Amino acid sequence: MHNKSLRELAQGLGNNDFSSVELTQYFLDRIEANKDINAFITVDRDTSLQQAAEADKLLAAGNSGVLTGIPLAHKDIFCTDGLRTSCGSQMLDNFIAPYNATVIQKFRQAGSVTLGKTNMDEFAMGSSNETSFYGSVLNPWDKDRVPGGSSGGSAAAVAAQLAPAATGTDTGGSIRQPASFCGLTGLKPSYGRVSRYGMIAFASSLDQAGPMTRSAEDAAIMLQTMSGFDERDSTSMDVPVPDYSADLEKDLQGLKIGMPIEFFNTDLDSEIASITIGALREYEKMGAELVEISLPNSHLSVPCYYVLAPAEASSNLSRFDGVRYGYRTAEFEDLLDMYKKTRAEGFGEEVKRRIMIGTYALSAGYYDAYYLKAQKIRRLISDDFTRAFDQCDVIAGPTAPGTAFRFGEKTDDPVAMYLNDIYTISVNLAGLPGMSLPAGMDSQNLPVGLQLIGQYFDESKLLNVAHRYQQVTDWHLRSPENS
Ligand code: GLN
Repeated sequence: MHNKSLRELAQGLGNNDFSSVELTQYFLDRIEANKDINAFITVDRDTSLQQAAEADKLLAAGNSGVLTGIPLAHKDIFCTDGLRTSCGSQMLDNFIAPYNATVIQKFRQAGSVTLGKTNMDEFAMGSSNETSFYGSVLNPWDKDRVPGGSSGGSAAAVAAQLAPAATGTDTGGSIRQPASFCGLTGLKPSYGRVSRYGMIAFASSLDQAGPMTRSAEDAAIMLQTMSGFDERDSTSMDVPVPDYSADLEKDLQGLKIGMPIEFFNTDLDSEIASITIGALREYEKMGAELVEISLPNSHLSVPCYYVLAPAEASSNLSRFDGVRYGYRTAEFEDLLDMYKKTRAEGFGEEVKRRIMIGTYALSAGYYDAYYLKAQKIRRLISDDFTRAFDQCDVIAGPTAPGTAFRFGEKTDDPVAMYLNDIYTISVNLAGLPGMSLPAGMDSQNLPVGLQLIGQYFDESKLLNVAHRYQQVTDWHLRSPENS
């Protein structure tokens, strides 16, 4: 049952091969049996089974869609009515959301079942899931290694087949990098494609939610439900949502794939390089043409991001003050003392580091030198992509500079950790859609992802290009159990 695609599960439910209650029970049991992976922060069996029973009624009445009755895992960054929404932080350990994020609401309206809330780096800040208040998540391919982050719990849950599919969010790589580390298909949509309402904000101008699945076909189904204009999110775009499954099979003859020379330079790990190039050769066989392109400012993306993202985070996280909701320190003398102790105790080290960097970059004396400068660089990075897309239809390259690393390997060196997103961050800065799909295994039998970058709101093209690859390769079908 856990090997089935979303469409196969929908067929099974439609044919009465199994009920949603049975399916949900099955995945809840797998979650319980694989507790050591620590993929979930909150699992509420009763709520899940109740939702499944409701879905069974819809199915019996013939009133169902493709996701009706299918259990899904959601990153613990999405507010879920009546369930704890912690964002991986002690600050929100006691926070029961009073409403659903739009993403959750859409999945509920589609009749899907919430299996649980997945573990993540605290406030989505990290690349290894090691900053979570709830402890590290183990990579199902090698339990001595990280699953990537910040959507590490969602990635581990889908890779270990504890959930058929999951949601994640990506501010600088948090869907694509863990997808790469765990052998999954992960898609970060264009900025504005998916509503951010009820999704706890890290860096509002970069955050986007997207699907983490075992195939492009499944990603198309998930994205269909997630996408669309939402008047409650002022950055949500009112552009039509295409049928993401319609173009999956489209022929790739004549497709121009851009290879950024800056990504394929001598700094690129040789194993990652040969796997990535191997995947591109596969595309050539399908009639695609490889063209060299340049993204001359891409080396500025990490420093630019680490000014802008912390600046936005320092502002967004000011709401966690112990007054309205969330953690409050036990003892304090006056209001100021309460604020200070609450924030000192409630936030972890990485979050505090970001708040300090961001506050500094936004302070009166340094605003022009750091924040404003970074905004200008952001524009240059985005212009690079605009020029590149004059020469190609999609851009391809590595997702991450390496495969899953060991616990503790990068925790003492924040910059080494930040560099994990060197190939993904520019995509968020430009607001473009990006995707990672499994393209091989390294010599240690760890998954390697190929990144595809598309034009604004052209998620259909990315899904099409990814799906065609998955029709001629089987990397996406491997799992830690059968590899
Ligand atoms: N790893 C990056 C960071 O720590 C990106 C995180 C994300 O995409 N949420 O900020």
